[in-house]
Amino acid sequence: MNIILFGPPGAGKGTQADIISAALSIPTLSTGAMLRAAIKAGTPLGLAAQKAISEGALVSDDVVIGIVRERIAESDCRNGFILDGFPRTIPQAEALDKMGAKIDTVLDIDVPDESIVERMSGRRLCSACGASYHVVHSPSADGKTCDKCGAELTVRSDDKPEVVKNRLGIYHAETEPLIGYYQNKGLLKKIDGRGTPAEVTGLIREALGI
Ligand code: AMP
Repeated sequence: MNIILFGPPGAGKGTQADIISAALSIPTLSTGAMLRAAIKAGTPLGLAAQKAISEGALVSDDVVIGIVRERIAESDCRNGFILDGFPRTIPQAEALDKMGAKIDTVLDIDVPDESIVERMSGRRLCSACGASYHVVHSPSADGKTCDKCGAELTVRSDDKPEVVKNRLGIYHAETEPLIGYYQNKGLLKKIDGRGTPAEVTGLIREALGI
């Protein structure tokens, strides 16, 4: 099954992607995580993406389309994949169509703007493996280190309130039009993202029939 997880920043896409990925044994392809890994490794891709990410702006379509095209071609995507954070613009969605991977479902996790800033302020990211947590909604066991690898948890620099505002503005202007794009294809399923992570997982399982 090829799934797109859609929704504003902070809607819980990463958390839900991890759960569905384990349930269906298919990988999550998070463009944000791939870009952060490239920045950490200091690769040319990372250097190209760094400025846009720190400002909460979008990385250029060409760059993200290139990394997704390469990643989708890998053998572990043969039985399906979950896209988290891609596509974010109409040109990205059109490029994805041309890659030949048929999308089965687009899950639109709906969370109002008021909740987003509160959610983002509590978000924590593992400095080593990139796993994400929330101080209230999905804390790590000790609140300080990663349950998966033991490294220290940090605040993402683009989760600062002023950058979050910018990211939300860009979401509404550039990414939200994709709702109509996928509605027209009959692929969109709306998920109420306001509940607890477990409640949202329940709604997603229902929508996917798993
Ligand atoms: P995320 O982890 O999905 O919130 O992404 C973090 C940041 O990476 C975004 O604010 C963008 O700067 C960049 N990014 C991730 N995915 C994309 C994409 N599909 N198109 C453009 N920029 C992206």
